[in-house]
Amino acid sequence: MDERLLFDKIANLRERVRLAAEKSQRAAGAIQVLAVSKTQPAEAIRAAWRGGLDQFGESYLQEALAKINELRDLPITWHFIGPIQSNKTRPIAEHFAWVHSVDRGKIAQRLNQHRPESLPPLQICLQVNISGESSKSGVSLDELPRLASEVLLLPRLQLRGLMAIPAPTRDPAQQRAAFATLRLAMAQLQPIAPAMDTLSMGMSDDLEAAIAEGATMLRVGSGIFGPRNR
Ligand SMILES: *Cc1c(COP(=O)(O)O)cnc(C)c1O
Repeated sequence: MDERLLFDKIANLRERVRLAAEKSQRAAGAIQVLAVSKTQPAEAIRAAWRGGLDQFGESYLQEALAKINELRDLPITWHFIGPIQSNKTRPIAEHFAWVHSVDRGKIAQRLNQHRPESLPPLQICLQVNISGESSKSGVSLDELPRLASEVLLLPRLQLRGLMAIPAPTRDPAQQRAAFATLRLAMAQLQPIAPAMDTLSMGMSDDLEAAIAEGATMLRVGSGIFGPRNR
């Protein structure tokens, strides 16, 4: 993509965030943008960085590792947001600052075990299956408190919050209902996990609803880079 076009998309996104924050009487500065760069070439990430973005989210490990290496001259914060296989926890723990997709204790244990001592604790969001579909990844609302307690005991992990990918819908009321479920789930965990401060929710098509329900980190892919070709 042409760099001018990319910068236009970033400006447009910033304006959407600003307007939605204003509508909810929230500070736009309290809402971070995680640029989801899966399937995008390293050069597109470099251009987005020049456009002012410095947090990038990747879903496919091999592809991500190649880009992290290629872009190691830039002070980028890398987030892993894809499904995690238990035999891939070492490279994830070594090369990312954040993981948004922890949904079971075994994965948390392994990330903790593999997080290098030379790095700060790995920042963790628990992925919650708020739509209750059995095929989707994410811990169920019922099992969430137990998983949170488990993660809180792991010294190389820092529990920051919750993440969800709701079933897609164009109905703003349904979008908000799903995000409200995640917000309430985090509120219910406050007594055991008072330091949690991150609601990773909202993508290109539903970020206004997410902001209205308290999102602190939006994960935006196509809204920045245009359509993916995978
Ligand atoms: C791809 C992806 C996104 C970004 O989706 P867009 O609709 O392109 O903004 C956000 N979160 C996760 C977990 C993703 O896999």
